[in-house]
Amino acid sequence: MMNLFTKAFRRYLLGRVFRFQFTASEDPGISLERLNASGIEALHIYVHIPFCKHTCPYCPYNKVPWDAELAGQYFPALKAEIITYADVIGRFQVPSIYFGGGSPAISPLDLVDGLTLLREVFLITGDVCLEITPAECSKETLRVLKDAGVSVISVGIQSFKNELLNLIGRSYDGVTALKALKNTVELFENVNVDLMFALPHQTLKELESDLKTAIDNGATQITVYPLFTFPYSTIGRYKRLKRVKMPNFMVRRRQYYFVYDYLVSEGYEPVSVWSFMKKASNSKSVKYSSVTREYYLGFGAGAGSYFPWGFYLNTFPVQAYIERLSMGKLPTSLEFAFNKRMDDLFWLYWRFYDTVISKQEFEKRFGKDPKVKRIVEFFRKVGFLTDEGGYFRLTKRGAFWIHLAQNYFALNYVNTIWSRALIEPFPELIEF
Ligand code: SF4
Repeated sequence: MMNLFTKAFRRYLLGRVFRFQFTASEDPGISLERLNASGIEALHIYVHIPFCKHTCPYCPYNKVPWDAELAGQYFPALKAEIITYADVIGRFQVPSIYFGGGSPAISPLDLVDGLTLLREVFLITGDVCLEITPAECSKETLRVLKDAGVSVISVGIQSFKNELLNLIGRSYDGVTALKALKNTVELFENVNVDLMFALPHQTLKELESDLKTAIDNGATQITVYPLFTFPYSTIGRYKRLKRVKMPNFMVRRRQYYFVYDYLVSEGYEPVSVWSFMKKASNSKSVKYSSVTREYYLGFGAGAGSYFPWGFYLNTFPVQAYIERLSMGKLPTSLEFAFNKRMDDLFWLYWRFYDTVISKQEFEKRFGKDPKVKRIVEFFRKVGFLTDEGGYFRLTKRGAFWIHLAQNYFALNYVNTIWSRALIEPFPELIEF
């Protein structure tokens, strides 16, 4: 039912001809001339480190167990990819770098090495953001990262409760999680904490206690998201969760609204449908976000790149990634080609996700588009959006529904694409 609705909605906005498909690609076709012609003066950077010491059963990301020999081939390949692009686009401006994974801090010295190279070949003008697992938050590792210029850090805590951590198969306990947060805020001004809600058996009291612990211990941003049960992850086979029932829609909504009200009452404001940031007490507060950046260039196995002309994915399997670069080729595997309209709609989708839409930018992109204007007007009338002068802002209700849409998007589109890409290094065609 939902599938039919989204297909009809897509057709309404983009017409019958536009194809939602990834096709095989060996090169994103990036050049300075093309970037200039598209009006792009800066590109954000994403770097994917796919190794984890412990793999979590619910995890949908492109990761492999830590293997020192494989990592010894991966990091040089990563550097080769960076140099290849730098040779094409030169010292291009980079407003932010984001290290994701896997566990990007698993080998801190290799990470610092990669960061040094990025600084040498590109003009880095903004923050360096990194996600980290609690088990890696030793004072020594954090100091190395800080000295290398990492400025925004996200600790994947998920919960401070041992029972919940056990249930989802995390490898550390609540004490370690709290210590990790304390060590991180001691060194960094901008610290995001990832927490989960709507876990099986999780009560509002437990949720409140997790939020309170994060706040009391200095989290400047809190991101709260539900458990994504991707069909291809091992969670379906994971014994502890197999026996328990997932919370229903009503429980999920109650918990989402609780999180929203609680964090707003504690002085945090929504900065995405999942994230809340402490209202700035100084001008240095920086929002941590991985997916909502405008145009970016991704490095590493399975990394995505987003340009005005399309979205590109590198090959996912680590071995295939290394092999491609060792042959002097780019590791690009798939392309989702855009037209201008798709690019504009993609922009709008992520602005909804951000919870704030600049009216000026909206008018620039959709000023003469009655279809999109009608949708935004409908959202305003049903109370999903408020009109705040220069901005449209998502309300709590709107944020909940966009959060569900994001969940649907992740479970359907991302699942369809990633589940193929994880086992097939270079698929010919993926339709979604
Ligand atoms: S959830 Fe994070 S730590 Fe766990 S396997 Fe996935 S990437 Fe690794």
